[in-house]
Amino acid sequence: MRVLPVFTILLSVASSCYSAEETMCSLPKPHYHRDASDPEWLAYAAQFHGHLGPWAAAGLRAGMAARCAVKADGYFDVDVTVEGPLVKPPHSCFLDGLQVSTGATLGKRNLNWLQAEKVVVRVRNTGSGQVVEVRPTDELIKLLASVKTRPKTATAASAHGRDEDHADLHFLEGIARWIATMPEKRILTVTFPKD
Ligand SMILES: [Zn+2]
Repeated sequence: MRVLPVFTILLSVASSCYSAEETMCSLPKPHYHRDASDPEWLAYAAQFHGHLGPWAAAGLRAGMAARCAVKADGYFDVDVTVEGPLVKPPHSCFLDGLQVSTGATLGKRNLNWLQAEKVVVRVRNTGSGQVVEVRPTDELIKLLASVKTRPKTATAASAHGRDEDHADLHFLEGIARWIATMPEKRILTVTFPKD
């Protein structure tokens, strides 16, 4: 029996890997119309979540405020717990915003969600032990609630493919951009609980 030289076998494996890479599927395409003024982090969040919605934007801002307040780098030095009525979209989109802005994820098991009536985000810097609580202001709550009251239009498209989201994507993106750029004090309350 003829034995193939090792380098021939390696060459064959390498070439099959290369062709696999050529046909590799790319990332999913989000339902997102990028605006020239959108910062990179907002586009990244839309890529992660699948669209740019108000609840995801609120989660982004809350996570950013909390992480910066406890001076955490994010990803591996944070433990995030969020309480709130976040059972299903669009409310649960808040969780994806939080994942992007804190780096705490389902996979790393450092993001926890507890069902509750009101939203509060608790972030602990696992290095320093410092804890912060971030809550949406009445203004933000009213803004998020107002999204639901918009009547369905002929061009309405649900980002989640469900009927409960009656606003069209452009309208949702507009509100989300507003939330993403509003001054922090108007949309969030940041407090440091005492042990
Ligand atoms: Zn969403």
